[in-house]
Amino acid sequence: MSESFSFQAEVSQVLNLVVNSLYSNKEIFLRELVSNSSDALDKLRFRSIEDKGLTQVSSPSIRLVPDESAAVLRIEDDGIGMTKEELVKNLGTIAHSGTQEFLSRLEEAKGDVSLIGQFGVGFYSAFLVADTVEVISRGAGADAAWKWTSDGKSEFSIESAERAAHGTTLVLHLKEDETRYASSWVLRDLVRRYSDFVSYPIQMTKTPMPSDEESESETAEAEWETVNEANALWQRSKSEVTDEQYTEFYKHLTGDMDEPLTHTHFTVEGMQLFTGLLYIPKTAPFDLYTREHRRGVRLYVKRVFIMDDAEDLVPVWLRFVKGLIDSDDLPLNVSRELLQDSRITRTIRKQLIKRVLDALAGLAKDDTEKYLEFWTSFGPVLKEGLHFDYENKAKLSELMRYRSSKSESWTSLAEYVERMPEGQSSIYYITGDNEQAVKRSPHLETLKKKGYEVLYMTDAIDEWAVGGLGEYEERKLVSVMDADLLLEESEEEKKERAEVAESLSGLSKAIQTVLEETVSEVQISTRLTDSPVCLVVPDGGINARMERLLRATERDVPAQKRVLEVNPEHVLIQRLKGMHDAEPGTDQFVELVELLHDQALLVEGSPIPDPQKFARQVTQLLERVTLL
Ligand code: ADP
Repeated sequence: MSESFSFQAEVSQVLNLVVNSLYSNKEIFLRELVSNSSDALDKLRFRSIEDKGLTQVSSPSIRLVPDESAAVLRIEDDGIGMTKEELVKNLGTIAHSGTQEFLSRLEEAKGDVSLIGQFGVGFYSAFLVADTVEVISRGAGADAAWKWTSDGKSEFSIESAERAAHGTTLVLHLKEDETRYASSWVLRDLVRRYSDFVSYPIQMTKTPMPSDEESESETAEAEWETVNEANALWQRSKSEVTDEQYTEFYKHLTGDMDEPLTHTHFTVEGMQLFTGLLYIPKTAPFDLYTREHRRGVRLYVKRVFIMDDAEDLVPVWLRFVKGLIDSDDLPLNVSRELLQDSRITRTIRKQLIKRVLDALAGLAKDDTEKYLEFWTSFGPVLKEGLHFDYENKAKLSELMRYRSSKSESWTSLAEYVERMPEGQSSIYYITGDNEQAVKRSPHLETLKKKGYEVLYMTDAIDEWAVGGLGEYEERKLVSVMDADLLLEESEEEKKERAEVAESLSGLSKAIQTVLEETVSEVQISTRLTDSPVCLVVPDGGINARMERLLRATERDVPAQKRVLEVNPEHVLIQRLKGMHDAEPGTDQFVELVELLHDQALLVEGSPIPDPQKFARQVTQLLERVTLL
């Protein structure tokens, strides 16, 4: 009796995408299916450490059995297998909660192959070469075997089946024009190219030599030979591994179709012994900024796979790192809880951070283009490190890149410092939502005139990150929006400003009275040349953007009073002074001050409290000036 099931809608979509966008990469199906088998063998080996009742076959392997005449390829493994429920769930649904969002992004990207790769098409790649796929599987510890069958369209069926031992057998009925994958030679070549380093033997029956034509060999037991190296790639010495092999191993581990940007392979000896092979991917996965994103590298203990995503080995700000750690010191039955507060974990984590930062520094030095590719994908994540990891601040600060008022492309802090003109002692930056907005900010006016460069910080994380950074090579990072921005005034300039402030003190007080609710102080500006006013942050306060960000996440942030700076040179300010001197507190004066304040809010990207009122006031003003 066979039971029919429909694929979950997302599966049908993924199946469609796989077949339509990977048609020129069909051969990857073998790597994907062999990886699944290798994972299934890993899982069983791990489970049998704890569960003594689970027995493994004596020498577990993955076997490829092609049948050219029937155009069928069988892939067998002695892994953990699947129960009936698991067949239905694992091969009929997609567990990942970000799937829907991912699918719409793929739609936009018009089936970008690298995107699909990140998602890990895995099992479904079988339908690249097969029109019907059967999966006969028996879960470890289960008595019954089950067969899953589908043509990869909208349905699959399940029926009871026979299998001598636990494990999974895939039977691919090859499409008419893909029968080459039933050729033993083609398969051997693919294994060598894509799966050489899989740590289990991949076996095929010996191909008879043309002279070996005795008919009795047909009935003889098949003689297996191992067609891959079958030892863990990370245990080989670096000089024995080619770049291509590192790349293939990365693809095997991650399912990414793209090459990694760089890798680092190391062994740490001493108090503890462990090996690491870590990769930096090229593109950010679609869920990098969501809670679903799985952080961490694989953990092995003495070559035995223990877990995917060992979170405690990797700080959150390096969550893009892929790869594995193989420890000789952790116990085989290590659990996530145990990892959490183990001294061994701390040592590994520290080394991992060091190796990754060194690899990134190497990339930044030797291959700027690749480094910027990294930066565009993961820069905002690395910046989180400035906030979280004080110890590595110096190294991290060398890796930061920013846009700026003086550089066409990205600049490092070292380059910024090198360009600093004489007399400038701080590093200036501005935060905002995007480059266009910060570029036009009135806060930059005087700095530009003085020839001081300003870093544009436009990632949401910058507000936090820059606080962690604090200074670079003993030069303070100063926000051009801070109220106490001191632009290295000479004594004479200071005196002059005090005099101006004195002469405008009446006006300042009057403005302050009008804006009492929102403004804590009115100051004479050193930073404005073209604009009449701007808003700045009082000492110790948080800036407007941070306030908006906090409000977006935490609901209730009390509104903070700001400092209004006025430009004494500006004709509008001078006229306001005239108005105030002639008759203080007129309606028109109040209205103009309110308009100036609203306009300053708009310029910095903050919402204005009463847009209707603002619009009405502007209209009235326009009516007045158009009155002929
Ligand atoms: P992924 O491997 O990324 O999870 P796949 O679509 O390749 O996605 O596979 C889905 C699930 O099916 C796997 O997570 C695994 O649980 C199960 N699976 C696939 N192949 C095998 C196999 N050979 N043996 C046991 N389980 C398997």
